[in-house]
Amino acid sequence: MLVDSHCHLDFPDFAEERAAIVARAKAAGVERMVTISTRVKKFPQILAIADEFEEVFCSVGTHPHNAGEELDVTTEELVRLAQHPKVVAIGEAGLDYHYDKAPRDAQAQGLLVHIAAARQTGLPLVIHARNADEDMADILKDETGKGAFPFILHCFSSGAELARIGVELGGYVSFSGILTFKNSAELREIAKDVPRERLLVETDAPYLAPPPHRGKRNEPAFVAQTAAVLADTIGVSDTEIAEITTANFFRLFTKMPKPA
Ligand SMILES: [Zn+2]
Ligand SMILES: [Zn+2]
Repeated sequence: MLVDSHCHLDFPDFAEERAAIVARAKAAGVERMVTISTRVKKFPQILAIADEFEEVFCSVGTHPHNAGEELDVTTEELVRLAQHPKVVAIGEAGLDYHYDKAPRDAQAQGLLVHIAAARQTGLPLVIHARNADEDMADILKDETGKGAFPFILHCFSSGAELARIGVELGGYVSFSGILTFKNSAELREIAKDVPRERLLVETDAPYLAPPPHRGKRNEPAFVAQTAAVLADTIGVSDTEIAEITTANFFRLFTKMPKPA
């Protein structure tokens, strides 16, 4: 069994085809998928998808790209929405200095609101970090110092130092299709240094499809390709990487029911 810890099934890329995509995922051994919220405003649509499929769960939160539009979202609101049985995580929130689609102070402010919600609910915070290693490390150090909260550095593409700090602070590191790309040798070196009990895999679909699908639309079934490269990278079998990442997933996503 594999798990796709991060995908975006609400994106228009998947409209009309969701049932087939979930079925293909199951056929590939992906028995749990977490569809990740990018706008609290659109949370009802995410929840409807999670409600429709037994294997699909969701998060609640505001992507850093949208942080400027959702500065009114409070920790209380996130905590309240997270009460739904299908909500298993908070986020994705974080800092994206690559695109800088929202002002950096708004991104940071949003991140703090989400951290507080993760701390209160005990649900893992899905962290998006891009080109923001130093500020992210500072915020994580400060905030874990005020009280621990579970978190994932999702779609990890930052530097070795942020991975090391994240792990030291109790976080998990999730690898996407980027790990499989030819020019990602440095990222594979980072993956080798992440303790096995902190590794996760994800697709971030519809983005970042691993080969042989690179450049095309990604979907949860393809998490198997990323898992295979991660297995190869750390020197374990495909069966072992499935066991490792799935055990890690259920340890972190405490609200997620295990398949019968
Ligand atoms: Zn992200
Ligand atoms: Zn995402």
